[in-house]
Amino acid sequence: MHAPFLELDGALARIRLPGGILPSPAARAIATLATELGAGPVELTNRANLQLRAIPPDAIGRGRDALIAAGLALEDPDADERRNVLASPTAGVDAEELVDTRPLVTDVAARLASTAATGLTPKFGVLVDGGGSVHVRGRVHDVAFGAVRARDGSVRYEIRLAEPLPVVFVAGEAVLQVDPSQALDAVDAVIALCAPFGRASDALGELGRERAARELTRRSGGAVIARDGGELRGPINESASAVGVHGQRNAGRVWVGGVPVLGRLEPAALAALATLAEQGGSGELRITPWRGLVVPDVATDDVAAVLAACTDLGLVCDPEHPVNTVVACAGECGCAAGLADTQSDARAVIDHLLTVPVAERPRSLHVSGCEKGCARPRPAQASLVAGPVRGTYDVYAARAGATGSRFGERIASGLDLRAAMEHVDAEGTRG
Ligand code: SF4
Repeated sequence: MHAPFLELDGALARIRLPGGILPSPAARAIATLATELGAGPVELTNRANLQLRAIPPDAIGRGRDALIAAGLALEDPDADERRNVLASPTAGVDAEELVDTRPLVTDVAARLASTAATGLTPKFGVLVDGGGSVHVRGRVHDVAFGAVRARDGSVRYEIRLAEPLPVVFVAGEAVLQVDPSQALDAVDAVIALCAPFGRASDALGELGRERAARELTRRSGGAVIARDGGELRGPINESASAVGVHGQRNAGRVWVGGVPVLGRLEPAALAALATLAEQGGSGELRITPWRGLVVPDVATDDVAAVLAACTDLGLVCDPEHPVNTVVACAGECGCAAGLADTQSDARAVIDHLLTVPVAERPRSLHVSGCEKGCARPRPAQASLVAGPVRGTYDVYAARAGATGSRFGERIASGLDLRAAMEHVDAEGTRG
């Protein structure tokens, strides 16, 4: 909110939620603020943050002050922007997790906001994964901590700099590891190592991986050790879906996950979800990096009522629904660079995909208003990218070995939406 982007439909302000954790009073405060400012829908981001869209420019200062007063932003703009911490949205309730990452997430956010982290850029991000069934491996952050079981039965965090947590471990590969009880020492060491450079990739570029690893060991007082990747148990399964009803580690409780269409929630729906979390859960919501939302700690007797309420509020709680696979940017209605009404077109795409057998739908589909591709950092299986002729799209597929663009290989161009979808359907059947 300190430095909102000025878009076609007004200002766009990000509210950082370390670990995606959103207590219901905070959710209600955001909903109230959006209404009072006359802002548009609340957007869920792929970093598990929230964005207020379409804020009237003359309301920016009022919004910033209100977020600070609600504890949702820090007074220092630079410190506020550094609090980028991504974690599994089921931390602390996931039946399979090895470590409850919530205390570490809180500590990391505080460290990133401290003066020790002053040199880091606002893009610097920390990922913390507890090893549960819903995990966030496979994403590139400046530093990633992944809880994993070693072959001797102990639990460790492996540490990756500027590369994703893998799902297989290679014998003979030196992997930085730390005991979970000393993870904060590792965090401090990473911040000290990277702060002079701004990003981890820049630190690695300057120092090289081997020297950076030695530095982390030294700066952490020996807490961080390079050990053989063969000591770690793998492979690790794909992440389970964060959508639907799932049993928790504590008996008699479940978490319920849902996704709003294209990651947008009306403020009134967010306020109602806050109330639902208080009445049907533990008073907390979690934002997922798949632009969804989790209500943890629902009593099993209340599942049907909570599911019905989520559906009434516009959440899709079916993990097979195409809402889970389709993303779209603001497009021409919210962005000056937009060449198509991606929001409307993406809704039409979702409706179309509902008529296609689940096994024949693309696993992921990106509708982009221009070649910048803001809505998805990695190539989707299929992408529709608006072309210069109004109402037309180029179609891309991220096939193995495809090169040429950030979307993959261009397989058709200049098609209207209906014709473009025929190519998407064909791509879906390729698997
Ligand atoms: S992809 Fe293009 S049209 Fe869409 S939000 Fe980004 S810049 Fe705007």
